[in-house]
Amino acid sequence: MAVGRKTDGPLPETIIMLKPRFLPALLLPLALFASQAYATTWFPKEFVCPIDNQKNTFMVVGSYGSYIYSWPSKYQWLFWPKTDSPTFYFCKKCHLATYMWDYEKLPKEKIEAIKMVLEGIKYTNQFTDYLKTPVNDRLDVMEKVYSVLDKDDDWWCEFYRVRGYHYDRAGDKEKAAEYRKKALGLAAKLMKDGRSATPKKELLYIAGAMKHFIGDDSGAIAELETALKTKFESSKLKPEELENAEKNMNERITDYIAKIRSEKDKPRLLFDSENSD
Ligand SMILES: [Zn+2]
Repeated sequence: MAVGRKTDGPLPETIIMLKPRFLPALLLPLALFASQAYATTWFPKEFVCPIDNQKNTFMVVGSYGSYIYSWPSKYQWLFWPKTDSPTFYFCKKCHLATYMWDYEKLPKEKIEAIKMVLEGIKYTNQFTDYLKTPVNDRLDVMEKVYSVLDKDDDWWCEFYRVRGYHYDRAGDKEKAAEYRKKALGLAAKLMKDGRSATPKKELLYIAGAMKHFIGDDSGAIAELETALKTKFESSKLKPEELENAEKNMNERITDYIAKIRSEKDKPRLLFDSENSD
């Protein structure tokens, strides 16, 4: 992480301002990524806690480039900044924890329910710099906070992958596997109900990814081979975007299967290297 400056940053035309909810991963061809330098930038900014008005300094994104879509977290269908420590805000007083983009946008009608959740949390470590607190402690609180925010199964499926990623990164393989199994269970449920906002091809990729990460490689390959044969469908995309998404997903899936079959490049051994924790 570079703070407040760009060192080995992307070329100017590849810099994208933060829009974390609309990352168009599916629309960007892999070939774009290979030659770009890797650096993301963050800047400190003061925030007022929506629960207790406590002032906190948190990091906000300055810039990043499309290279983030080629980082190894893609093998867990996760993309920076969800893999990076500054993303998880944490109030030093009431211990409210949220994704950075939700901190100032919590629904007013949920504030009381969130206060009740926070009262039940006994976090005793004092801190001034939230980055010094373990990511997994912050995610523990987030899991409780979001449990009263009416998030759907697509949201939880991704959140459990985030938990698996950060537990694995911290060396807790058992917890990582527990959360990856939860993500896998939700991906299977979403495919079965057929009501998911996530295209089936992507759910199959996620199911294959989670199986690979919990050590079931033959199960992973079976899911990924089904994904290859499944047409990419989304009502939100135009025909040419669908065509791109299909092509890009197939490229990702083919690469994934080859990596699982390889001896030394197995995706479950890889982490993003440019993160700040
Ligand atoms: Zn607070």
